[in-house]
Amino acid sequence: MRWTEFFIPTSKEVPAEATVPSHQLMLRAGLIRQVVAGAYTFLPLGYRALRKVEAIVREEMNRAGAIELHMPAMNPLEWWQQTGRVEAMGEVLLRLAGGSDDWRSKTVLAPTHEEVITETARAYLNSYKQLPVNFYQIQTKFRGEARPKSGVLRTREFLMKDAYSFHMTKEGPGGLDEGYQKMYDAYCAIFSRCGLPYVVVEAESGPIGGDASHEFMVPTDAGEDYLVQSEDGKYAANLERAAIAPLPDARDGKNEPLRDVHTPGFKTIEEVSGFLKCTPQKMIKTIIYQAGGEPLVALVRGDHEVNEAKLARLAGTGRVTPADPEMIRKLTGAEVGFAGPIGLHARVIADQAVTVMHDAVTGANKTDYHVTGVNPGRDFIIKESGDIRTAVAGDRAPNGSLLVFKKCIEVGHVFKLGTKYSVAMDAKCLDHEGKPRPFIMGCYGIGVTRTLAAVIEAFHDEKGIIWPPSVAPFQAAVLALDIRDQAVLAMAEKLHNELAAAGLDVILDDRDARPGFKFNDADLVGFPVRVVVGKKGLAEDVVELQVRITGESRKVPPDLAVASVRELLHATKQEGP
Ligand code: ATP
Ligand code: MG
Repeated sequence: MRWTEFFIPTSKEVPAEATVPSHQLMLRAGLIRQVVAGAYTFLPLGYRALRKVEAIVREEMNRAGAIELHMPAMNPLEWWQQTGRVEAMGEVLLRLAGGSDDWRSKTVLAPTHEEVITETARAYLNSYKQLPVNFYQIQTKFRGEARPKSGVLRTREFLMKDAYSFHMTKEGPGGLDEGYQKMYDAYCAIFSRCGLPYVVVEAESGPIGGDASHEFMVPTDAGEDYLVQSEDGKYAANLERAAIAPLPDARDGKNEPLRDVHTPGFKTIEEVSGFLKCTPQKMIKTIIYQAGGEPLVALVRGDHEVNEAKLARLAGTGRVTPADPEMIRKLTGAEVGFAGPIGLHARVIADQAVTVMHDAVTGANKTDYHVTGVNPGRDFIIKESGDIRTAVAGDRAPNGSLLVFKKCIEVGHVFKLGTKYSVAMDAKCLDHEGKPRPFIMGCYGIGVTRTLAAVIEAFHDEKGIIWPPSVAPFQAAVLALDIRDQAVLAMAEKLHNELAAAGLDVILDDRDARPGFKFNDADLVGFPVRVVVGKKGLAEDVVELQVRITGESRKVPPDLAVASVRELLHATKQEGP
């Protein structure tokens, strides 16, 4: 490929709206162009790289035995109603606008495809003999993200690889556990081949629980998620899920008496602790939720936050939502902001950190009052307690090792769905005994566009992108330093053709431009290896090979250039752990 016949609109300007490196570099290197907030054109160079990621994903999915198909973005609203996801997805589910009888008002743009694939399975998979099966696609997803951000890391329209597996059993040959493991392994292969330094973490899987979900995370400051790892490297989870060891018990048995204190209008932890001159650590935060129409009270230390997923799991309820003010007033007999555990008639779950508190401060269940000298065990009984809060700096993993927090991007997610969708859509299959049973399902997603941006987050420097050879839009660039010099251009063309004939993706920079300009562009675009052909070198019968990631350079006779480039590409190890 000749640069002058291709399209690479590079730019020196750092776009003001781009704050993370991948976004800046994708714009500057001419890979993408924003069309509206959250939707981008992949320009030719960007599209080449995207197709490389796609090809790796496809190869590994095929290798794992998944079968490719392609589902439409347009979905019947009705199927989404059947699974309760019109509500659950809220604003994320994009709907076409139209009159009540118009087809548009009955159509949604799919953010994911469980409904469609479950309907397909219901239609065609009738017997256990047809199982297990795993269908996948690489297809455009639509999501009404509130805040599209960081270029193609979070968009409203993006390319996802989504796979769905169908099984008759959870365990055993052909079961969900086995299918899940295959996908897990395929994901490791995919991200390793993309060169990504990824970490796999346990993720929150909602009511399904257990070890039913893992996320593939790439540590980078551009990420919006947090990865929590123990210092000893033995534990990793996402922030939502990270388990916390109990805090040491520092109680000394000498307790103050209970005392009501007037705290007029002081409601929040900050207000009350400021007014009473105590630290938030001394306060018990009493948060009232509702689950299944009943109040559920969570107690955490004032400086901690309730983790609703952990709470719901411990409570054994599907979901918890904040109680409405009416329920709170009825339960506490006070205005919102003065709730406390003493004398409260409701199910109360205390965080394990609350169980070792003493002489604490909390709401008095009386408007404008708090109580001090509160001692669990003496002033109220904790019947249920456990880990119901989100980890913070200083917390330890269950094995006692200190937790470390890193920002990260979720590039992939594997999930044991169980029968959620098959039950909702009445998708059954006959088992060995001829009895109809709902499919047991797994689902597995990879953000293809996000993965590409994550590669750039992981590999760049102040000059530009540093592509791993596996996903580089071109693995090598031949720079003709002065195209007006016949010998230089002829040699550059020859080497370009030979490299292409050797099966490499190569581009010839044949622009009539200064060497410095070409070097800068090559650094910006980030070709793994470049071959520099100049007049001076040719006089000594050499061309110069430069490796982007190491900066290493070597001079070789033109005859050896192709073999050397291949060798250098092969030796460029830009792989994950
Ligand atoms: P997030 O928590 O980042 O919003 P998610 O958990 O909602 O993502 P999934 O439903 O698990 O995402 O989708 C599978 C994969 O699709 C994700 O792992 C991610 O790589 C990608 N993805 C999800 N949302 C977006 C988005 N808005 N833009 C780009 N990629 C996305
Ligand atoms: Mg996810």
